[in-house]
Amino acid sequence: MKKQKHKYTNFIRQIIDKDLSLGKYDNICTRFPPEPNGYLHIGHAKAICLNFGIAKDYNGTCNLRFDDTNPVNESNYFIESIKKDILWLGFNWNKNVCYTSDYFNVIYEYAIELIKKGLAYVDELTTQEIKDYRGIWNKPGKNSPYRYRTVEENLLLFDNMRKGYFKEGKACLRAKIDMSSNFIVMRDPVLYRIKFFEHHQTKNNWCIYPMYDFAHCISDALEGITHSLCTLEFLDNRRLYDWILSNISIATRPNQYEYSRLNLEYSVLSKRKLSQLVIKKYVEGWDDPRMPTISGLRRRGYTPSAIREFCCRVGVTKQQNLIEINLLESCIRDDLNKNAPRAMAVLNPIKLIIQNLPSSFEKDIVMKNHPSNIDMNTRIVKFSNQIWIDRADFREKPDKNYKRLVLGKEVRLRNACVIKSNFVTKNKKGEITCIYCTCDLNSLNELNITNCKTKGIGIIHWISILHSIPAEFHLYNNLFNIKNPEIEENFLDKINHESLQIKYGYVEKSLQNAPSTKPYQFEREGYFCVDHTHSNKEHLVFNRIVSLRDNYTELKD
Ligand code: ATP
Ligand code: MG
Repeated sequence: MKKQKHKYTNFIRQIIDKDLSLGKYDNICTRFPPEPNGYLHIGHAKAICLNFGIAKDYNGTCNLRFDDTNPVNESNYFIESIKKDILWLGFNWNKNVCYTSDYFNVIYEYAIELIKKGLAYVDELTTQEIKDYRGIWNKPGKNSPYRYRTVEENLLLFDNMRKGYFKEGKACLRAKIDMSSNFIVMRDPVLYRIKFFEHHQTKNNWCIYPMYDFAHCISDALEGITHSLCTLEFLDNRRLYDWILSNISIATRPNQYEYSRLNLEYSVLSKRKLSQLVIKKYVEGWDDPRMPTISGLRRRGYTPSAIREFCCRVGVTKQQNLIEINLLESCIRDDLNKNAPRAMAVLNPIKLIIQNLPSSFEKDIVMKNHPSNIDMNTRIVKFSNQIWIDRADFREKPDKNYKRLVLGKEVRLRNACVIKSNFVTKNKKGEITCIYCTCDLNSLNELNITNCKTKGIGIIHWISILHSIPAEFHLYNNLFNIKNPEIEENFLDKINHESLQIKYGYVEKSLQNAPSTKPYQFEREGYFCVDHTHSNKEHLVFNRIVSLRDNYTELKD
């Protein structure tokens, strides 16, 4: 197999290149092993891009294996959501979906092999006693009094565990390794525990379930995984991984490599914490557009390619770090700046009447759907004498740096004409209700933007009132007030209660049937897409995917 060149290499790809050059493997096999107890998040996207990406680039395979050894919080519902997210990200798994539970019989047989070799025993200490006996990092543990049972006794008791003769928590199977090891994971780790809980795949076949550490290495070996990639918290567990595989009669020997987890500013990325946000209703659900889940990002309007690009830019190292939210945002901006059609929306509308045009006046204006990509074609936008503009685009008093409409001054309406404001009307509260203007008829007749007078005056966007449709806009902010809520004990206290701002305005008619999740750039406002959960035929709701980098640079024609 040929060494692969990849845009962003990393230490794992270098290990694989070396293994291949030494002829260690013919085929590279990786796996992605989610536990189906929640939705996938952006951290999982990193693991997916790494595992599936390697398989793709090296012409190898990547298995999707559900790590389903703890049925209590797992479900088919999560399994389906995980499959959907992986496919949406642009990856596909090798052959059939795998489940650790497919191997429960084999794993059980390996446990019996360890017992027969005197390397595992049934322990009847309580959970708390097991913990107390384990010791701490600088203090050796203590042997369990049950450690000295004979092979026959252990075989019988393990069989009793399987038959359901013990109550939950009353017995477990432990490896007999070393209670004074410097590595706590090696102090007689638990291999099997009792759980009277129906499993989503194996139903009531089992009341004992293998622990992750025991099941994972065996599953990797059974599937012929060559490089088993996991996050750094499993560094010490690698000893156990290797210990188990060297002490059972299994021929293949996968190798485990660890890389750092993705942490993202202003987010929590642990399923346990994300599920609390859902259960306690701080968000609408796992796919709330503020959630760092794949489904949340999808609903928000992120594209698979932007997420893959983000994972590439983040890279794969052993360094622990907190990735800036800006990096994620710049990936989606780069994508949408190139690929999203332009349209107009007014989020904070105020009425503007052009006095020197009749109320019956209508003009078709041809607008480019993209400033530089002519393949994206043009569309017709109607212009008339009554338009919506944004409240923030008008001021009664001039200001040196304010380049929009000021009382008595001129501004250009984007792709239309130059107008000058004459006076305003106000309501009892003193709020402006309408701006009255005059239009420069030359600029209107001569819609060739380069010829008419634009020098020195600003450009604002607008929508003809008669040709507008009402819309609701959801503007999102970070879900947390602090950069690293993950390390907070009470992370829920750090929730930003202003993470959602709702505005009511208008969009141009061409968006009437905008498909959900298709992104648009609303000129001068940011990138938006229809929210499929809240929108219907009568009521359009847009999510702001991300704001524009800089209003003024995006303003240039
Ligand atoms: P969580 O803490 O969110 O429950 P987990 O590691 O228990 O995460 P799994 O479903 O077991 O979640 O993860 C499947 C795979 O994804 C594992 O290989 C895991 O290492 C990887 N993974 C999970 N979170 C991250 C992350 N933040 N960054 C990179 N990889 C991750
Ligand atoms: Mg896990």
